[in-house]
Amino acid sequence: MKQLADLLKSEEGTEFLRENEIYTHPAQFTTQLKKPTVLFGAKQDPIDKPVVYAGQQIYLDYTASVRDKIQLLAELDGPIDSFFLWLDTDRSGSDKLISKIIWPVDETQVSISISTGKNKNIETRFVKLDQKQIRSSIDRLGTLIRQTNPSQKAIESYSALRKLFSETNASTLAELNLEVTSFLVEDYLQVSINNIIASQLIQDPIVLDALKCLISQREGVIEAYNNSVQKLVELGIDPQVRKLPPFYLPLHFSCDQDNTRVNLTYNKKGEDHYAAGECKCGKTFEFFIGSNTNVNLDEVVSTNRWSPDVTLPLLLREGISGAIVGKSSALYGIVLNQVLKEALSKTPVPMLVPNSSGDTNPQSLIHNYINQ
Ligand SMILES: [Zn+2]
Repeated sequence: MKQLADLLKSEEGTEFLRENEIYTHPAQFTTQLKKPTVLFGAKQDPIDKPVVYAGQQIYLDYTASVRDKIQLLAELDGPIDSFFLWLDTDRSGSDKLISKIIWPVDETQVSISISTGKNKNIETRFVKLDQKQIRSSIDRLGTLIRQTNPSQKAIESYSALRKLFSETNASTLAELNLEVTSFLVEDYLQVSINNIIASQLIQDPIVLDALKCLISQREGVIEAYNNSVQKLVELGIDPQVRKLPPFYLPLHFSCDQDNTRVNLTYNKKGEDHYAAGECKCGKTFEFFIGSNTNVNLDEVVSTNRWSPDVTLPLLLREGISGAIVGKSSALYGIVLNQVLKEALSKTPVPMLVPNSSGDTNPQSLIHNYINQ
């Protein structure tokens, strides 16, 4: 199946991407941007500029592709407002760099875990850390660095990072990761971006209204989504996502016993609609989400333990003009844009994909920071 990089190799592929609002040149992308209809954060300011965002799960360390997104967002030209959305609402086990520093030693890699594997099904915002664990992990990194005959500059860089780990008041993995990320972005990459945290943004009335709309159009959303996935597969393109099941809801809930993230599914009793799920610990959940054609999310939203799934970009549509996306997000962005057009009567979102920086250094941001 073709990936984005394969499509970019041919004129035909590039044309297909452009028809689907995927751009690789910032100037082409910015001319597509229209001002948003509302501003997040209940801001009453005049809406005089387009708003562009990039999103990423909040990791402890990153590969070059995330750095490319950060730098592209910071370098966008023109009167544009922008923000970087850090997702603290994903499972901490969904990528090793969320909870580990991977350090090359000779021909192998040593992984320094800041959180145990038993937290892998818990969202990073609910993974508790203790200061002892944080300090022992940074000391372990120091030991590995000292074994490699480091330069004076590397020792200084490590000391600055160690200071952060030693002095942090972070109590969750998401809090620590945000501190480390901000440090790497500001002190190492030396760029300034406006950070927004997903668990806070999803409480915004704009997002909650869009969620209500998405759930009220559930059947049409599933149909448009699945048709689009099918169409990409028929074209030999990897849609990056699978078809949605009939009882799909765009909702997760973190169990209040053990914090495990549970998928909620749709359930109907008479004219009443419910979001239901069962945790591995045995606890079951059922939230009333409305009657007849009225969607009411008060019960599940008031828990502050719900989170969105990969359809999160659909919930941001009214407040944004365009998005900077990675190579896989661009392909399922085609699916999401189809849902916006066909099921939600909204305009698709223009997307900008970073040109690969050509950086062949496979090491992580922390590694490059220490060895700069
Ligand atoms: Zn549970």
